[in-house]
Amino acid sequence: MEDITDIRHLENVRRDFVANVSHELKTPVASIKGFVETLLDGRVDDPADRRRFLEIVGRQADRLGLIIEDLLSLSRVEQAEGMGDLPVEPVAVGDLIRTVIAECGPRAEARSIRLDVECPADLEAEVNAPLLEQALINLVDNAIKYSEPGQPVRVEGGVAGGVLELAVRDEGAGIAAEHLPRLFERFYRVDKGRSRKIGGTGLGLSIVKHIAQAHGGSVTVESAPGSGSTFRILLPARRG
Ligand code: ADP
Repeated sequence: MEDITDIRHLENVRRDFVANVSHELKTPVASIKGFVETLLDGRVDDPADRRRFLEIVGRQADRLGLIIEDLLSLSRVEQAEGMGDLPVEPVAVGDLIRTVIAECGPRAEARSIRLDVECPADLEAEVNAPLLEQALINLVDNAIKYSEPGQPVRVEGGVAGGVLELAVRDEGAGIAAEHLPRLFERFYRVDKGRSRKIGGTGLGLSIVKHIAQAHGGSVTVESAPGSGSTFRILLPARRG
């Protein structure tokens, strides 16, 4: 007899994923359709209302774009992970963190959030720089999104016991313990409404997880409501 538990489980995961993607795409499409139909009816006389409706259509189209972009990232990373031959190069970790800070800077500034960095100047690692940057950007963007103005976000790089550790700490809302085990699942959100409102797709952390795994590493979270969150990407410091 063959053990097909794993295959069954994979089939279920795939089926759930397709159902979730369809659901996530349906909502903005329905909204776009509704507003376009209303405008085509020709019953919206006020030009200000027409403009408002078109702005909503624009925002929903942007949202669809974000979901599709994240789905493509996820699928590319999973493919790299499956093939097990991620291209890596020696990278100065401090420079990589500063690239991430520069990318997220405007979004932090818009929310009056200070971004701090702590990383030894000579820290080098063999990583896939674009992917690791993307993972850190997702974590820093989340830290910004789920903090209040004035609460700083800190990115730390270090190595201990052959493990490269990249930590993103915030002093924001924090996450209740019951959510932590499912946090890295695709489309899992603690507060659906809040995530959607601030432009989240629910895919950011699953992309981070797969980028860490493609490097032979992992990702962890430590968090409690009211005392902020620390997400850590842990990678083997030397590959080969
Ligand atoms: P989203 O696009 O919704 O931010 P993610 O996969 O990036 O999706 O994160 C999943 C959920 O985890 C978020 O909806 C949010 O509830 C929670 N979360 C992620 N990062 C943080 C953080 N730094 N502080 C508090 N909650 C967070």
